[in-house]
Amino acid sequence: MQAVDTIILGAGPTGLSAAHRLIELGQSSFVVFERESEAGGLCRSRLVDGSPLDIGGGHFLDVRRPAVLEWLVRFLPRASWREYDRISTIQVHGTQIDYPFEANLWQLPIERQLDYLESIARAGCVTGAAMPSGFREWITWKLGDRIAADYMLPYNEKIWSMDLSRLGTYWLHKLPSVSFRETLRSCLERKPSGTMPAHAKFLYPVEGGYGRVWEIMGRALGERLLLGRAPRSLDVETLTIDGEYRARRIVTTLPWPELARIAALPSAIREQIGRLEHAAVEVAYRRENLDSTAHWIYVPDPAVPHHRLLLRHNFVPGARGHWTETNARRAGGASGWRHVNEYAYPLNTLAKPTAVQAVTSWAAGKGIVAAGRWGEWEHMNSDVAVEAGWRAAERAVAAG
Ligand SMILES: Cc1cc2nc3c(=O)[nH]c(=O)nc-3n(C[C@H](O)[C@H](O)[C@H](O)COP(=O)(O)OP(=O)(O)OC[C@H]3O[C@@H](n4cnc5c(N)ncnc54)[C@H](O)[C@@H]3O)c2cc1C
Repeated sequence: MQAVDTIILGAGPTGLSAAHRLIELGQSSFVVFERESEAGGLCRSRLVDGSPLDIGGGHFLDVRRPAVLEWLVRFLPRASWREYDRISTIQVHGTQIDYPFEANLWQLPIERQLDYLESIARAGCVTGAAMPSGFREWITWKLGDRIAADYMLPYNEKIWSMDLSRLGTYWLHKLPSVSFRETLRSCLERKPSGTMPAHAKFLYPVEGGYGRVWEIMGRALGERLLLGRAPRSLDVETLTIDGEYRARRIVTTLPWPELARIAALPSAIREQIGRLEHAAVEVAYRRENLDSTAHWIYVPDPAVPHHRLLLRHNFVPGARGHWTETNARRAGGASGWRHVNEYAYPLNTLAKPTAVQAVTSWAAGKGIVAAGRWGEWEHMNSDVAVEAGWRAAERAVAAG
């Protein structure tokens, strides 16, 4: 039996950041268990048709968290990243308009602009109607029935592939309000209005794809990173893994059903884990370049299985081709290289907040810190996952 202070489960961005934060805090007694043969989780890249492809889907580093950037460039120097001004579009009415839809109506023919403007004027958030608690109803309340029907409803039905009324709205509070006046102004002035979306500027590695930085972080852990090693059992009373490693505390970044597979848990906790839902995404490569300068394109058309196109030739230097992202429930027709990410999106169902609260507070009582996209069951981007990893390491150390 090996005794260590901390065991970290999972070497995605959260687990890797927790491990390196432990080192910064002067802690050297830890191991990281990772099921795959390489570190990086959803942020990994592979060489496909001669160039890197992000196997977890299109990944871009937002430039808005200076502390995270400063930290990541210690592993992959700033000169090894290229900065891009985001170009992303939405395919509608046989054309493409810039994202976000409501800020770029001015790019459509006048008659369509008028239809959308009328419908925004009737939207609940403009007329002062109470905000609904279900996501499906919220979409129309927020954007009006026309944008809902032509874009937001079909797009969300594709990406989540579930009854949208079962999703909550608690995760949407950060989105800016749609203003009829501002939308009208943007149509009259023929330029975008409102707050710019995430990733307005983003960084992407010049070589190796988005996975490069996480691969380097993994390598820097040396023998403390156990690759190709999925734990077979976890004793939550003694914090022992496989009867071989015993820890004073555990940081878990695993999807909770993975933990439930290997640990004897109280039935109430197992029941709450059963309420946590997720979506799987298939990434499939195609060799052709697309005739667009966009980095990625949203595809709401219900007749097409994929919901997003990633134009690799526009952000991976020297690369050709593009890839599609498709909810695994709608996928299956792609030929050629493809990869299914079983755990891609945690679903923000109405039941989720209570379930996460119950499971994570039970875990905390056992000395298990839950962190990251799956520990917290949150749609967090990798820069936020880095911070989640730091916090988890700090909490683990503070717990003694
Ligand atoms: C389609 C898509 C697009 C995205 N785009 C962006 C973007 O543009 N920019 C951005 O910053 N973020 C983006 N993200 C989010 C980003 O992927 C996550 O924030 C990040 O990967 C979360 O890191 P994590 O370590 O919490 O989880 P993960 O990356 O999922 O890592 C979890 C790790 O646990 C391991 N694991 C699972 N089960 C076991 C087990 N039983 N035993 C041992 N190990 C196990 C996994 O192999 C994995 O390495 C996107 C995500 C998706 C799905």
